[in-house]
Amino acid sequence: MRTLISDAIVVTNDDARSVLMDGAVVIGDDRIVAVGTSQDLKREYQSVDRVIDGRGKLIMPGFVSAHTHAGYTVFRGRVEDGGLDTFLTQLMPMAGVMTPAERLTIGCLTYFELLKSGVTTLVQVEEEAEGFPEFAEKIGIRSFVGVQVQDVEPAQVLDGTFAADAGVRQQQLAKAIGFAEKLIGRSDRVTPIFMVNSPMTSSPELLKGLRSAADRLGIRLTLHLGLGARESEVTERLHGKSSFAYVRDFGLLGPDVIACHSFHIPPQDMDILAASRTHIAHCPQINAIRGSIAPVQALQDRGLNVALGIDNYFADFFEVLRSAVSVARIKTQDGTALQPSEVLRMATVNGAMALGLTDVGKIEKGYKADLAILDCTYPGLTPLFEPAPSVVYHAHMGSVDTVIADGRIVVEGGLVKNVGYEELRQQAALAANSAWSRFISRYGGTKASLNKPGGCACHRQ
Ligand SMILES: [Zn+2]
Repeated sequence: MRTLISDAIVVTNDDARSVLMDGAVVIGDDRIVAVGTSQDLKREYQSVDRVIDGRGKLIMPGFVSAHTHAGYTVFRGRVEDGGLDTFLTQLMPMAGVMTPAERLTIGCLTYFELLKSGVTTLVQVEEEAEGFPEFAEKIGIRSFVGVQVQDVEPAQVLDGTFAADAGVRQQQLAKAIGFAEKLIGRSDRVTPIFMVNSPMTSSPELLKGLRSAADRLGIRLTLHLGLGARESEVTERLHGKSSFAYVRDFGLLGPDVIACHSFHIPPQDMDILAASRTHIAHCPQINAIRGSIAPVQALQDRGLNVALGIDNYFADFFEVLRSAVSVARIKTQDGTALQPSEVLRMATVNGAMALGLTDVGKIEKGYKADLAILDCTYPGLTPLFEPAPSVVYHAHMGSVDTVIADGRIVVEGGLVKNVGYEELRQQAALAANSAWSRFISRYGGTKASLNKPGGCACHRQ
């Protein structure tokens, strides 16, 4: 099956940051066969199976969200203003309240929204992972899916002991590894990954167990790391070393690892991170709202690969790109820092690199046909002189006309093809209502009190 998309603006995202103002792309099955001027490719590929008229359109690589908790959409409107304490008062308690079925229903809505905003590869990591691979395949997105683990119960977080529990550890390892084993070899589009929630809530045995399973199974790892001074202080107290040194010593840093957020990096830990060649999933939108900014310029200056993630709650990946530029410029007090062509690379090919995908994230011959096609007549994109800045500053989810993932058209005319929106939306709203009503009846409000006895029951369904 060959498809020619002609007469479009093509933002290739290649190493030269080439943009073709009257460009064309030819797709053969799941790969890009040719990229060039419309004139050349129309002449060269006269007998294709399908022609897409690209007039008034812009073709770019699909986005890669290198860090996502799709089910956390349940928190929309209720946690954005609570800072980092929401981990203890809302996120962890909800894990013991929301059922796996509710989480999946809400998470599917997030998958839908992100695909519609041009995301073609998504890392989905959460306390429960069942059902997400099947939904990813159905909707047609490329997804890494993993169970997020910890072996310190929230009660021990709240009482300050951070005591790990061997029984919990065994259960968590069995769940994460069992899930991953089932996924291996299942399809090209769905891949398992391991996820550690926090250095504070993970024993050395848990970290070692995951690393050895990752090596045995040949799969990648990811973790939350550098999420504030509390993480540093607690890890230092528990293990006598910084959180970065701690996870390094038990195998959770390296070129097959993505560290997520990493906005709090003491100077000696920057050295540890740089030496390890760990990839970074920068989540600028959520962290800005929590009052934090990752030192992206410093990370890049140390040669580290920085990708982008949406993390939680939000639906429009273009906002992540804009946040990345804004926070980089505030952090460096430099209004020219992080240029649009660079942030587009972070949102695409850097994310692919972080996941070991060497053929995703560029419009280049031989690369996977993972594309977003924008409608340049959508409000905000006129006049369109410079494609990269226009995409980064002025495009929205609504600008996305077509999404092609792994060579298949999965969004067309702005509509997701394989899944209906309204039913999904209604089911997600019902699931969120029922999870919150149980939360409120258990905790007496939309926040659990840190001092209430038995006030938190993460992991227990
Ligand atoms: Zn996260």
